[in-house]
Amino acid sequence: MWRWIFFLAFLCFVVLGVVWFVQNPGDVTLEWQGWRLDTSVGVMMAAVLLFAALTAGLYRFWRFLRAVPGEITTAMKERRQRKGYTALSSGMVAVAAGDAPEARRQARRAEALLSDSAPLTRLLSAQSAQLDGDEKAAEKFFTDMLDDPETKFLGLRGLLTQAVKAGNKSRALELAEAAHRMQPGSEWVAATLFELQSGSGAWLSAADTNDDMAKKRLLEKPEAERRRAVIAFELSKESEDAGDSAKALKQLKSAADMAPDLIPAVVALVRRYTADGQHRKATSVAEKTWAKTPHPDLLEPYWDARKAPDGIARVKASEKLAAVNSDHPESHVALARAALGAELWGEARKHLQEAGAGDGLEPQARICRMMAELEERENGDLTKAREWLVRAGSAPGDEKWVCGECGNAVAVWTSHCGNCNAFDSYTWRTPPHISGLPKPSFAESGSALEGDDRAATTGPKDPDASDVAAVAADVTPASVHARAATTKT
Ligand SMILES: [Zn+2]
Repeated sequence: MWRWIFFLAFLCFVVLGVVWFVQNPGDVTLEWQGWRLDTSVGVMMAAVLLFAALTAGLYRFWRFLRAVPGEITTAMKERRQRKGYTALSSGMVAVAAGDAPEARRQARRAEALLSDSAPLTRLLSAQSAQLDGDEKAAEKFFTDMLDDPETKFLGLRGLLTQAVKAGNKSRALELAEAAHRMQPGSEWVAATLFELQSGSGAWLSAADTNDDMAKKRLLEKPEAERRRAVIAFELSKESEDAGDSAKALKQLKSAADMAPDLIPAVVALVRRYTADGQHRKATSVAEKTWAKTPHPDLLEPYWDARKAPDGIARVKASEKLAAVNSDHPESHVALARAALGAELWGEARKHLQEAGAGDGLEPQARICRMMAELEERENGDLTKAREWLVRAGSAPGDEKWVCGECGNAVAVWTSHCGNCNAFDSYTWRTPPHISGLPKPSFAESGSALEGDDRAATTGPKDPDASDVAAVAADVTPASVHARAATTKT
């Protein structure tokens, strides 16, 4: 709109000028070196304007000619770069797809085309070398990258990954520390550093890294707190080993405060209080935990805290513990265990039925084993005992500490998974069942007596042999087989 107004105004101005020159004619005479030129003012003005326009045009043409070689060079360089980056991205795709020859080919191409973008091409070269299984060449590329501040971090990261893969823990720790100093905000580096520190038992450094991660919001608050609790528990073991029970108690208290469901820490705290003669505190901690997360491992420490060595004393103690969470199956199991120990058969049967052995219920394997023990010890009924043991073979497995990463199932909690080494990955639950196992028949019941925990364990990977042994050890104390053997001899 405005442009049109300006254009019309300009047109009016030109027309007015032309009209003015026509109405006010004048002559111009030029004399130069014997030449003489007579013309009107209007023609003279037109000639001047034409000359100015021509000069401007020529100047622009000259500038264009001057710029051409540079532009051609730039265009060629850009094309080269574009090809280089295409090679680079094709190489990265080949690395991701695991295509080693293609990755190597593209890496060479990118190297030739992108002389000034060395960081990424070096990374690609290193990765394609790794893909080829040539760790030595990859290490050389990564080490070269350390010299350039721009690529130092990538080099450190590559070397760190190599060291972790090779299981060289001290070197990995060194590299992770250097990488963490360079980029404290990198989640991957911080997590790797924490893993390495905690894995090597450097709990104080691990605690610092954990705090730092929480501060930088690389971890959610509850997770950081949980990790602090696990670290405090591990530190308490060190204090205990060093004979500093006061320090151990302090650390256990803080662990149990931060993670009240960290059962191993609570159990250790109950035992510590009991050992210190603080029985009231010990029972109170156990009862508080039982009310929210009852766990079979709490029962014996609680008996000790209540100074209940056997029989009726244990029944009375168990009643007090069960009272804080009376409807929970674990409370019935606790009462049944105590009743079996005190030979109160009727009481034991009642609680086992409540815990799953009643009609129409599907009891866990351990309930079946306790029922077998009851049938044998109360009535000497070996047939019924055997039936229960067979039933235990196909019953839902007992709860264990199951690794959330690899499915490894163990009886004794550790801060790192014994199979995949993941940190704090165990939760108390029923292990994944092995499907497709034939149900044992009565003819096979002898073998069911031998290994009554066949339905337990294993996820994707086989658990450590030691873990299996631990599981087996855990389930045997109450087994009828062991008892039958002792009664026969
Ligand atoms: Zn695991």
